[in-house]
Amino acid sequence: MKSNRSLTLSKEEMKEYGYRIVDTIVEHFDTQNEKNPFSTASRKEMDNLFLEDAPEQGMDAMKVLDFVTDNVLSEINIASHPKFYSFVPGPSNYVSAMADTLATGFNVFSGGWIASAAAAELEIVTINWLLKLFKFPVKKGGGIFTSGGSMANLTALVTARRQKCGDDFSKAVIYMSDQTHSSNIKAIRTIGFKKSQVRIIPTDLEFKMSFNKLKNAIARDKLEGLQPLCIIANAGTTNTGTVDDLREISKICKAEDIWMHVDAAYGGGAILSEKGAKVLRGIEKADSVTIDPHKWFYQPYEIGCLLVRNHKWLSSTFSERPEYLRDVEGNESEINFYDHGVQLTRRFRALKFYMSIKTFGLQSFRDAVSYNIDLAEQTEALIRKSKNWEVVSPATLAVINFRYNPIGKNCTEKELDKINQQISEGVTASGKAVLVTTILQDQVVLRMCLINPRTTIEDVKETLNLCNSFV
Ligand SMILES: *Cc1c(COP(=O)(O)O)cnc(C)c1O
Repeated sequence: MKSNRSLTLSKEEMKEYGYRIVDTIVEHFDTQNEKNPFSTASRKEMDNLFLEDAPEQGMDAMKVLDFVTDNVLSEINIASHPKFYSFVPGPSNYVSAMADTLATGFNVFSGGWIASAAAAELEIVTINWLLKLFKFPVKKGGGIFTSGGSMANLTALVTARRQKCGDDFSKAVIYMSDQTHSSNIKAIRTIGFKKSQVRIIPTDLEFKMSFNKLKNAIARDKLEGLQPLCIIANAGTTNTGTVDDLREISKICKAEDIWMHVDAAYGGGAILSEKGAKVLRGIEKADSVTIDPHKWFYQPYEIGCLLVRNHKWLSSTFSERPEYLRDVEGNESEINFYDHGVQLTRRFRALKFYMSIKTFGLQSFRDAVSYNIDLAEQTEALIRKSKNWEVVSPATLAVINFRYNPIGKNCTEKELDKINQQISEGVTASGKAVLVTTILQDQVVLRMCLINPRTTIEDVKETLNLCNSFV
C-alpha cells in the first residue's frame, strides 16, 4: 500500500472492514462456550509470531485484520467464558461492546460539558441511577466513571485526603483489613503516603475486619497525636466475597470524624438483588464507594466508578483552572468531568452502561445477579454433599472457596495443599476451565467466582468432575 497521509479507507472499504469485525465479534459471542477459556504462550513463542520493526510500508487492511483474528484473538483468555471462574470474571455483554464501538467510532471527548453536552449528561444520568441503587443522596451526591476499580480507589483516597487534611497529610493514617485489595495499597503509595501511615487490621475467622483491633489501632494512633483519616471497608473481598460490618464501621467513622470508603469493586453489583442488598446493608452510610461495572454489572473493560455523598468533594479536589480551559467552564450544573477526577481527555464510558440498561432493563440485571448468587449457593450445596470436597468459605456474593479433602483418607495439611495445587494446575493446563487457587488461613484452596449469568450448574458439575480427574 502506498503512503496514505490522510489515514483513510474508502467508504466501501470501511464497510467491508467494519462488517468483518462485527461478524468476528458475533461469531465469538456465539461460539465462545465451545472454545477453551484458557490459553497461554511463552514470551519466546509470542516474539516469534509478532516481533518486528514498525513497518514503513502499510499492507492490505483485510490481511492485517485476518492476521490479528487468527493470531492475537486466539491467544487470549476468555474472561466471559462460562467456565472462567478465577480472579473476577468479565462476563460483558454484546450491547455494551457495540456501544463502546460507537463511542470510539465517534471519538467522543467525555471531559467537558461544552465538548459533548450529551456525553456529560449521560454520565450524570447513569451516575444518578447508581446513586439511587446505593441509596446515596441523588441531588447532593455525585460520582465519576474511571478506567476501573483501581483508579476509583485512588480517586477516593485523593478526595478523602483533600477534604480531611488539606495540604498537610503528614499525620494521617489509613486503616484497612488484611483482605483489602492490593489496588488500595498501590494507590496509597502512588499518592505519596508512607508505609508507616497504613494500618493493616487482622480479620476474624469469617474474614471480616476485626472490630476490636480496628478500635485499638485508632485509639492508639490518636494517643500518639496522629490523625485517623480513612477506613477502607470491604464490600465483597476478592478472596471470599466477605463484606465487612459496614454499619459498625460507619458508627466509628462518624464518632471519630473518619472518612469511610467502601471498596465494592467486586461486590457492588450485588446491590441489584434482594439477597445481595441485605448483605451490603450499611454501604449507604459511606462517604465514598468504589464499584466496578466491568465486573458484576456485566460491562466490557474498562469502566470503574466512584460514588461520593457530596459531589462538591470531587470538584473541590480536582478543579484546576488553566487559562486554556477558560472558555469552556460553563455553569455549575453543567458538569465538566475533568473537574471531578484525574483525567482531562476521557473516553465516553457512560454510553455502554446507558445503552445496556436501556436495552435489557434493570430487571434483567437484577435477575442476572440473583441467578449468580443462587448458583453459588447451589454449588456450595453440591460440594457439601460430596465425599471428596470440603467447603472452606461458604458461598458469599457468588464467591465460594473449597478444597479436595476426601473423607477417610486422613491426608496431612501439606498433602492437601499439594493435591489442590495439582488440581488447579491440571484444570488450567487442560484449557477447559480457569480455576486457580488462593490461600485462606494458610490452606491452599480452589476459588470459584460465579458472576457469569451464562454459567450453569451443569458447567459447575463438569468442572468438579474435571477436578476429580487430576487427583
Ligand atoms: C478488582 C478489584 C479492584 C481493582 O479493580 P480494577 O478494575 O481491576 O482496577 C479493587 N478492589 C476490589 C475489591 C476488586 O475486586
